[in-house]
Amino acid sequence: MKDLTRCVITPNVVTEGFVALGAGVHRASTIVFENAEAYANRGKRGPDGYSYGLHGTPTTRTLEAKLTVLEQGVRTFLLPSGQAANAIAMLPFLRAGDGVLLADSVYPPVRDFANTDLARFGVEVGYYDPADPSDLAARLNDRTKIVWCESPGSTTMEVQDLPRIADIAHRYGALVGCDNTWATPLNYKPLSLGADIVTEGLTKYISGHSDVLLGSLTIRDEQLTAPIRSTLGRLGICVSPDDASLVLRGFETLGVRMRHASEGALQLISRIKAADIVDRVLHPALPTSPGHSIWKRDFLGSSGVFGIVFKEGLSRHVAPSLDVLKTFAIGASWGGTRSLIALMPVRAYRSVTQWDGDDLILRVSVGLEDHQDLFEDVDALFTEISARGSAWTIPR
Ligand SMILES: *Cc1c(COP(=O)(O)O)cnc(C)c1O
Repeated sequence: MKDLTRCVITPNVVTEGFVALGAGVHRASTIVFENAEAYANRGKRGPDGYSYGLHGTPTTRTLEAKLTVLEQGVRTFLLPSGQAANAIAMLPFLRAGDGVLLADSVYPPVRDFANTDLARFGVEVGYYDPADPSDLAARLNDRTKIVWCESPGSTTMEVQDLPRIADIAHRYGALVGCDNTWATPLNYKPLSLGADIVTEGLTKYISGHSDVLLGSLTIRDEQLTAPIRSTLGRLGICVSPDDASLVLRGFETLGVRMRHASEGALQLISRIKAADIVDRVLHPALPTSPGHSIWKRDFLGSSGVFGIVFKEGLSRHVAPSLDVLKTFAIGASWGGTRSLIALMPVRAYRSVTQWDGDDLILRVSVGLEDHQDLFEDVDALFTEISARGSAWTIPR
């Protein structure tokens, strides 16, 4: 063999005895076959075999296997983002003339996907009150193919009665999907409560370090495999093994990170909920938060993301006051090591329910810092908001 060829061919080295705790990063587009017949029959290898990098590598399969067990499902697909997982959870199951019903508190990009793309392809898009299964029942019909849940809902945190919703939706033959990004499979198991599909924004808590985008979709019934897998093949969607390995690494510490973040959030909330500038705090572990009793019944724990609704007229002073923060960073996304804060509008993202309160909610994600630094930051923020609020109301 000539040197030029030696440069090209990867030598085999001994791998026996090499047992690492982390998953290896296997990069591949091409998978090679032992002979022409194996190549010709590659399509028969099925969803668990290897045929082309697009359909998975040992690295991506490792992450999928971890998610499948935690979600109590039968198979997981990885997607380039949580939003992609939400879109792909619906796309393979819809055609023109079908209907979808989305919880009115759904993650706004899902609303945008449905109103723009699904509607463009002739799917009838409707919304239902996330807190009222009878409202869903009244809106369902034989054309409804998907009922979409997100519990608790984005920003406003309504916890949904998933077992009842699934029961109602299944009577019409609709699939039930649930976005589980807030709780993660550690704290909520939608597939065991009636959902057919569960999605995760792995970008958030599961990867946990704000440095990678990835999503997952786990199914309860093997019959959903073929439509999803073939849609991914036709659209050419896959994920990088490097990204999957970052998520696998973060995943190992999910439990301790979630515990620190949720404890910090609850302590922070108990300090601020009585502040005279606060109208209410939205976090499912609070008895005053919508769906609290369902949360107690169905969830195994909580996370560190919550919302603050300020008293009427004060929220306009919040944005300029955020400059006093030292530990919190201002930014979208959440679930990382660094605590984040962002103002979220609500009314623009409501179709069938009324939002009662100020339009701007301050969304807080508690990270892994010392809780005391977060308390001091929020004390300074509230002092600033109060000062600006009262300065504003002094008659001139
Ligand atoms: C952030 C988020 C997603 C999307 O995750 P990306 O990976 O950023 O696309 C989906 N659902 C919810 C509830 C989210 O908060």
